[in-house]
Amino acid sequence: MASPLDCVADLVVIGAQVVTMNAAQPRAEAFAVADGVVVRVGSDAEMASCRGPATVVYNAAGLTVLPGFVDAHAHPGDSGMEAGFVDLDGAHSMEAVVARATAWRAAHPDAKWVQGGPWDGIALASVAPLAALDAEFGTTPVFLWSEDGHSAWVNTAALRAGRLLTENVPRGGQVVRDASGGLTGVIREAAVDAVTAVMPVPTADAVDAGITSALLELRRYGITSVIEASSDLSLLAGWRRAERAGRLTARVFAAMPIDLGEGAPAVARVAKLARKYRSERLRVNAIKLFVDGVVEPKTALMLDPYIGGGTGPVQFEDAELDELFDSADAAKLQIHAHAIGDAAVRQVLDAESRLVARRGPADRRPILAHLEFVSPVDAPRFATLGAIADLQALWAYPDPYVTALTVPVVGEARANAAYPFAMLAKAGAPLAAGSDWSVTTLNPWPAIEVAVTRRDPDAPGEVLGVGQGLTLDQIVAAYTLGGAHAIFADTWLGQIAPGFKADFVVLDRDPWAIPTEELSDVKVKLTAVDGELFSRGFVDSGN
Ligand SMILES: [Zn+2]
Repeated sequence: MASPLDCVADLVVIGAQVVTMNAAQPRAEAFAVADGVVVRVGSDAEMASCRGPATVVYNAAGLTVLPGFVDAHAHPGDSGMEAGFVDLDGAHSMEAVVARATAWRAAHPDAKWVQGGPWDGIALASVAPLAALDAEFGTTPVFLWSEDGHSAWVNTAALRAGRLLTENVPRGGQVVRDASGGLTGVIREAAVDAVTAVMPVPTADAVDAGITSALLELRRYGITSVIEASSDLSLLAGWRRAERAGRLTARVFAAMPIDLGEGAPAVARVAKLARKYRSERLRVNAIKLFVDGVVEPKTALMLDPYIGGGTGPVQFEDAELDELFDSADAAKLQIHAHAIGDAAVRQVLDAESRLVARRGPADRRPILAHLEFVSPVDAPRFATLGAIADLQALWAYPDPYVTALTVPVVGEARANAAYPFAMLAKAGAPLAAGSDWSVTTLNPWPAIEVAVTRRDPDAPGEVLGVGQGLTLDQIVAAYTLGGAHAIFADTWLGQIAPGFKADFVVLDRDPWAIPTEELSDVKVKLTAVDGELFSRGFVDSGN
C-alpha cells in the first residue's frame, strides 16, 4: 500500500469497471486524479490514501469507465453551425426543399445568401434543382450542400458568384450539365469550393453559437478529443475564444485544407498557424488534402474503371503531392488525406513512400481517412509506412448509399468489398476511427456496432463484406489508443493510466456484457476532460 502522503487527489473515481486501455493494467476498480492528471489506478481500497477533505468522490456504482473517445475525423465547427442554416433533413422532394428554404429566408431577411442542407442524396439523387431555385430566389444566391459535402445545389446567382457560368470549370471540379448541355444546378468538388470561397464569412457570434452547440454534442457523446478535418481561420478563432473563456471542453486538433495548386506557400501558412495554436486543448498540426471525391458520382479515384468507364478525375498530380509532403514534413505538419477510392489510397501511400526515400524514415503518421476501397496489395503498406487507417465505421453496412448508389457504379462484388476493416487490421495497419460528423452522427456507438456487425444498427439485415468486421476490443482501441496515436498524443491521452490526462467517460452499461446488437444503444452518462466532470448530477458530494 502507498503511504498516506503520496497521493492527494482532486477527484477519486471508485466502484467502477475501469477499462484502462493500458496493457500493463487493463482493468481496475478505481483511479485518482490530481491537477487533471491520473495519479493512481487500482482498487477502491488503494484510493483511500488519496482522499482528502477537498477530494470529490465519484462512485460509478459498477458502471464501465473508458478513456474519452478520440474522434479522428469530424467537422465539429461546421456541424455546430449548421443549425443556423436551412435544415433540409426530411425534405424528400424538390417542393419540400424550396418550402424549407423559403421559410428560412423569411426568417432571415438580412441574409445575403440562402445556405443549408443536406439534401436527400437518395430520393433526390437525380434532381436538377436549378430552375426551381432560380424561380423562387432570383438574384439571391442559394447554396445547399449534399450529405457528404462533395456536391452542392446552387442557383444561377450562386454560379455567377463562384464564376462557374463560364466554361472555365476549376481543375478537379464539375459543373454538371444535362444531356443537351444545360446547367442543372449541381456542382461537385473544386466547383463547390469555388462557391464556398465567395460566400459571406460567418459572424463571430454565429461561429460562437455553432461552437457552443458542437461542444455540447461532443460532451454528450464522450468525445474528449477531435480532429477537425478541415478547419478554417474563423473556426480557429472561435475555438480559441472558447478556450480563453474556459469553455473549450474538448481537445481540438485542426487539419487545415490545402486546395489544388496552392502548393508549398499554403503549407507555410499552416505552419504559422501551428505555431500560434499549440495548447493542450487547441492545436493546428496537419494539412488536409482531398485526394479524391466520392464513389457515388464517380469522383473517387479507382484502380479499375467504373461501370460505364472512367476511373475518376485526378485531383493532385504526384509532383504536387511531393511538394506538399516535402514542405509539410519540413514544417513537422502531419498529412491528413481524404482517400476513398483504391487509386487515391495508393496515390497517398506512394507519395509517402517517395517522401521516405527522399527525406529518410521518421515518425510521421500520415492519416488516410475513409478508405472505402483498398487494394489488398496496399494493406500491408500502412504498417510499413506507419500510416493511420482512419475508419468511418458507421458507413460499413448495406445502406441505400451502398445498394442504390454504389452497386450501380462499381457492381455488386466490388461494392461488397468496401470498407475492408479486417483486412487492414490483419495487415497491422494502425487504426483510428471517426464520425465525419455531420456527414453521419457524432455518436460513436452506432459506428462501434457496425464495425463489429457490418449490419444496419437500427434494423439488422444483410451484412456488408462477410468477415470484414472488427472485434469490439479492436474498434474501442481505435477510438481511444488509436486516436491518441493518430494525434501524436499517445503518451498523454487515450488511456486511464498514471501520467495520462483524466479524460474519461462513464457508460450506462457494459459494452462487453450486452448483445452486439445493443452496442448502438450504449449511452454516455458522464464525460470528463482533465478531470472536470460534465453531467454533474451524478457526482457524489464528497466524503
Ligand atoms: Zn470529412
